[in-house]
Amino acid sequence: TYVIGSACIDVKDAACQVACPVECIYEGGRMMYIHPDECINCGLCLSVCPVDAIYSDDELPAAEQPFLAINAEFFSPE
Ligand code: SF4
Repeated sequence: TYVIGSACIDVKDAACQVACPVECIYEGGRMMYIHPDECINCGLCLSVCPVDAIYSDDELPAAEQPFLAINAEFFSPE
């Protein structure tokens, strides 16, 4: 899946939402979130993000690792 990281916070440009062919990018409080079960890994969102906030989960930099859990929490809050 693809994951949105810290650069999206308070930016929420939403170009990714328009680009996503399966509409799996959702707006949250301060950022956008990609639904991990709906994402088809096409990579289209990555190239349109103006702040380069999106990563493939296997290329997530160490500093952005917390966003895997933050993203999961958004879609299935305890
Ligand atoms: Fe949508 Fe493709 Fe980005 Fe997944 S990788 S969120 S399917 S645009």
